[in-house]
Amino acid sequence: MSPESIHRTAETVRASPVDVSADRLKFNGDNTFQRELRRRVEEHFRRSGHKQRDSARMYLKSAIILATFAASYVLLVFFAATWWQGLLLSAVLGSAVAQIGFNIQHDAGHQAYSEHRWINNWMARTLDLVGGSSYIWHWKHAHYHHTYVNIDGHDSDISLGVLARFAPMQKRYRHHRWQHLYMWLLYGLTAVSWHLHDDFHDIITGTIGKRRFPRPRGKDLVVFVLGKLVFFTLAFGLPLAFHSIGTVVLYYSVVAMVAGVLLAMVFQLAHAVEEAAFPSPSEPGRIDKPWAIHQLETTVNFARDSRVITWLVGGLNFQIEHHLFPRISHVHYPTIAPVVEATCREYDVPYHTNRSFSAGIASHYRWLRRMGRPDPAPASLALKPIPQT
Ligand SMILES: [Zn+2]
Repeated sequence: MSPESIHRTAETVRASPVDVSADRLKFNGDNTFQRELRRRVEEHFRRSGHKQRDSARMYLKSAIILATFAASYVLLVFFAATWWQGLLLSAVLGSAVAQIGFNIQHDAGHQAYSEHRWINNWMARTLDLVGGSSYIWHWKHAHYHHTYVNIDGHDSDISLGVLARFAPMQKRYRHHRWQHLYMWLLYGLTAVSWHLHDDFHDIITGTIGKRRFPRPRGKDLVVFVLGKLVFFTLAFGLPLAFHSIGTVVLYYSVVAMVAGVLLAMVFQLAHAVEEAAFPSPSEPGRIDKPWAIHQLETTVNFARDSRVITWLVGGLNFQIEHHLFPRISHVHYPTIAPVVEATCREYDVPYHTNRSFSAGIASHYRWLRRMGRPDPAPASLALKPIPQT
C-alpha cells in the first residue's frame, strides 16, 4: 500500500465510528522496485528544479477551465436565444464540467494541486460545485479505487451490479452478452446518476459499492449539504426562474450526457481494457504482490504522445504515473513517464500503453464483449500475457 494510503487510512479510521479496516487487503512482496522508482523520480525533480505541486501552469489552466465553465453557464442560462445556441453552449458547459473533474478536483482531491491543504480542499470542492461530492469521492476514488485497483469487492469502480460485468470473477447474467453495445448509452447517464442518485444512496446506506464508509459529520456534512444546495440551485433553481421546465430538463440532459460520456470514457480506458489484470486475493486479506507491481499490472496508459489529449484529460492518459505518484501534479506526468517506463523495463515489470485514444476505446469494447460472453477462458484471464507495447 502506498505511504499516502496508509496515512489516510490510519487517519480516517481514528476519526470514524465505522471500522473500514475490517476487510482490508494487505499487499506482500519485495518493495525494492518501488523504492528505486521513487528515488529516480525524486532525483528527476531535484535535477529539473520543478516543484511537484503549485505549478503556475496548473493555476493558469484552472483559471481557463473555470472561466469557460462560468461563461458557458451564464451565456446558456441568460443569453442563448436559439436552440442551436443552447445545444452548443450545453456541449461546451458539459465539457467544462468534465474538465473540472479531470484537471482540478482530481489533482486537488489527491493533495497533488498544492502544498497547502486549504488550497487542495477548496479546489477539491469544485466537484461539489458540479454535482458530485468531494467527501464521497475521497472514499470511493482516492481510497478504495486507488488502493485496490481492479480487485472485485474492494474497487467500487468495477462494481456496476447487474448492469455490467467488468471482471472475470463477477457473476455473469444473460443480458451481459450485449454489454459491449448498451454500456455506451449508459455511460451517458454517468453524471445524471451522480447528480440525482449515487451520493444520496451512498449516504443513506453507508456503503460505496460493496464497502462500508463513514458518513460525513461536522464540516464534511456541512460541505456536502451546501454543495448539493449550490449545485441544485445552479442546475435547476436558477434556470427555472427564466425558462420552462421542459427547456431546463432538455439542456440539463445535454450538459450531463456530454460530461458523463467524457468522464466514463477516460476512466474506463485506464483499467477496464484487455491489457489490465483483475487479480484476486490468494487467501482472505492477502495479495501476493507488492503494491506498486499491482498498480502496474492493473493500469494502462493511452495516447501518451498527444499533448492535446494530455491537456484536456488532466494527464489521465498517464494513469500509470498517476497511480504510482498520486501526489504529483498531473502537469508533470509526461516528463516523469520516461523515467517510470525505463525503470519498469529494467526491473521486468509491465508498463501497458494503448497508442491512441481510439486504440483504448477498441480495447475497452473487446473487454466488455469478452466479459459478456459465457465461459470466458478461465483463470488465465487474471494472468494474461503482457502485450508488447
Ligand atoms: Zn486518481
